[in-house]
Order: sequence, then structure tokens, then C-alpha cells
Amino acid sequence: MTLRETIEKMPKVELHLHLEGAFTLNYLFKLVQKYGGDADIKNIADLEKRFVFRDFPHFIETWFWKNRFFREPTDFEESTYWTLGALAKQNIIYTEAFFSPWDFAESGISAKEIIPATIAGVDRAEKDFNIKCRLIADICRDHGAETSIRRLDDVTPFLNEKIIGIGLGGSEQKFPAYLFKDVFREAKNRGFHIVAHAGEAAGPESIWSAIRDLNVERIGHGVRAVEDPELIEYLQIEQIPLEVCIVSSIKIGVYPSYREYPFTDIFHKGLLVTINSDDPTMFGSTLSDEYEILIRDQGLSLSEIKHVQMNAVSASFASMEEKRKMKDMINSFWDRHNENIQ
Ligand SMILES: [Zn+2]
Repeated sequence: MTLRETIEKMPKVELHLHLEGAFTLNYLFKLVQKYGGDADIKNIADLEKRFVFRDFPHFIETWFWKNRFFREPTDFEESTYWTLGALAKQNIIYTEAFFSPWDFAESGISAKEIIPATIAGVDRAEKDFNIKCRLIADICRDHGAETSIRRLDDVTPFLNEKIIGIGLGGSEQKFPAYLFKDVFREAKNRGFHIVAHAGEAAGPESIWSAIRDLNVERIGHGVRAVEDPELIEYLQIEQIPLEVCIVSSIKIGVYPSYREYPFTDIFHKGLLVTINSDDPTMFGSTLSDEYEILIRDQGLSLSEIKHVQMNAVSASFASMEEKRKMKDMINSFWDRHNENIQ
């Protein structure tokens, strides 16, 4: 078996993926046909070309362009279903996926319609594919604390019905985490797990704020902790997991190259670091690509790769029993495959 085949076949856990950036091109093409309105897209190849970005503004423009094709509850249910099917095909056995049901108001559909449709897609995918999925509702910093409380109210009736957490995305430089202190305290009181994107666009101070002001259980990205030795020591002692996503950070210019991304530094310092794919369809990558970068550009050995897989299981919000089963699957995979890698 080649190295690539091994990476593709090994059971993987994905903790930082946005459903809105992980749709399948096949399903989006169906929506383009359903609603029309873009004469340039005649086939999947045209659609693939549409996702090659000139620059960051073009990326944002494309993000909103594709959102326009999601208009009815069934679009969200089907898209979630096919996305999870595609993840299962890559041997992703468990995912905690972000979703932002408030981003489609312009299409005339409300979060109250999108939330149950997305949950229905997850339920159906879990029956048909070999994957488990929990949802984390991503509240965007840019809309402020008052809106965030209303958003928390929208998802609260669905707590534990596949939705297990609240996340904080958006512009971390412009809207610091402390602004959302009350929202996150309330979310925790209601029983949500809490996580936040921090330490990608902004530096270590953003991570400190997510930890001290919000009490988050995991940090999205968090890689810029490397700029602050005191923070590195804190994360090492407390074992607060980092959801690292290399491809998206390189493509938006946080570091100049895959080699220069400081994954190995923080991994060797003993932090609980995981690897994830963020917006795989938007960035034209997969979780397997991320693992391949760890080997090819970051120099990790296969036993270190197994360690990273196990970190994702430990960092997940799965039950102890689910974690034990996933660890058994990973161990038995490596027992079978360790010898045969070319
Ligand atoms: Zn993200």
C-alpha cells in the first residue's frame, strides 16, 4: 500500500469543519441546475474552476455566491447528507461539524428552518454511512453579543439532539472574545460545549482571551500560541486541545508555506494538537491532504501520525464508550497496516 492509500484508509476524526465549506461539488451543481441563474456553470468542471481563487476578496465573493443556491430546507438536508457521505468515503468515522444557519437570510430562509433540516440530514447520513456527526452552531463575532444571545436561543431547543456546542467564528482582531463573555457563560449553563476560533488572524492575546474570558474547551486553530512561551506552557499543562487546519491557514496567508507552518513545533512541545480540514471544498483539499502535509512537509513519522489521530479522539466531545471504540479502531488499523507501507 502506498503512503497516500494508508492515509486515506486510516480511520480519522475531524473536529474543525464547516458544513458551509464542505458541500460536495456534485450536490452544489444540482442546486445550480435547480435554481439556474449562472449561465457560466454548464458542468462540474465549470464549477471546479469557479472555486479557484484569485485572492481573498474573490474567496469571500465565491463563498456568498454559492450560499445563494441554498434556499429550501431540503437543500440543507440533502447537502448535509451528501457531505457526510463524502467524509465517510474518506474513512472519517466521527466529526464535530460547525454550521451557521443564520448565514442564509438573503435567500429568504431562516435558521429555524435550516436547523431541523440539517439535523435530519445528519440522522439520515448516520443510518446510511459509517459516520457519526455532532453539530456545533457557529456564532459569528461580527454580529455582536446581543445577536449572539438570540442565536443561542434559536439552537437551545435542539441541544443534545445532535447539536452539542456553540462556537465563535468571525473577525477575531476586530471583535475580541471578552465581548461574548455573558453569551458563553449562558451557553455553558444551558449545557453546551463551548469552543472558539482564536490565534489564527490574531495573535496569542486572542487565545488568552478565549481561555480566560470564555472558558473554552477547545481552540480553533490556536497555532499562533507559538509566539508566546508562557501560553505554550499553559496549553501544555492544561492540555486544552487545538484544532489546527494547515491548508486554509496557508491559503489565506497566515504562514508563507506548508513547511513553515509551526505544527511540528507545537506538537513536539506536547500540546494536544489535532489536524482538521476547515472548509475542504472551498480550499480544494481533504483531511487526507492535511495528514499528507504532516508527513511530507512537517516530517512527522507514522507513529506520530497515529498520535495525532488519537489526539483527535481524546479532544472530541464523544462519550467515553465512543472514544474507546474509536481508539480500538485506530489501534487495529495500525496493527494490520504498519508493516506494509512502501
Ligand atoms: Zn474554521
